[in-house]
Amino acid sequence: MGNEAQASASGNGNKTFSKSIWKLDVPPRIKLFGGKVCAHALATKCNLAKRIPSVGMNCEICGALEESNLHALFLCPFAMEIWVGSTFGVDLLQGMASSATDVLGRVADILDTAQLGDFLAIMWECWNARNRFIFSAKDGWRGGLASRAVGFVKSFREMKEQEVKDPYEQNTQFWKPPDSGEVVLAGVEQQMEFHGAELEEARACLFALKAVIAHGFRRGV
Ligand SMILES: [Zn+2]
Repeated sequence: MGNEAQASASGNGNKTFSKSIWKLDVPPRIKLFGGKVCAHALATKCNLAKRIPSVGMNCEICGALEESNLHALFLCPFAMEIWVGSTFGVDLLQGMASSATDVLGRVADILDTAQLGDFLAIMWECWNARNRFIFSAKDGWRGGLASRAVGFVKSFREMKEQEVKDPYEQNTQFWKPPDSGEVVLAGVEQQMEFHGAELEEARACLFALKAVIAHGFRRGV
């Protein structure tokens, strides 16, 4: 616990990283988790012991004397098993860090933004697995958790990309200027409900065609 307090007082990696968390392309819940790590607000045993003197600081999984952020997310053999299954490997974590925020500050200098998001997602998965183990006694196969976290972030990014693309594709797909010499008829019946762009487009065309026929025009665009 002493080490974490020292690191937060002296390290500037913490401050730098805590600002960049909100720019990462990861689901909001992972950003919130990152914010908690930087604020030393995770409910680790060390943090709980600060507020509730009767609570011990030992790790409930491996029995280490202090379950700090650094221990729960990186050093506990339980977390290590998750990191071993990641593409980052344990090399990145070895020989460094006096706190979890210190780790983040250092990897932020090495990894690009996308990788940093994946890294944070794996930390989040470590924390979830730790909670499942302690509170629900669920102990699944940890080797696959790192790639599951990265896959979660990947699908989030793909969904966001899809949402951004759609309106542009629809705008360019459904309307083009008429050739010169043709008449444009625009008309839409008042609808109480909106049934989707394609159906409304079809309704507008039908209404325009009826108008063309009713007024005796020979051609409408
Ligand atoms: Zn442990």
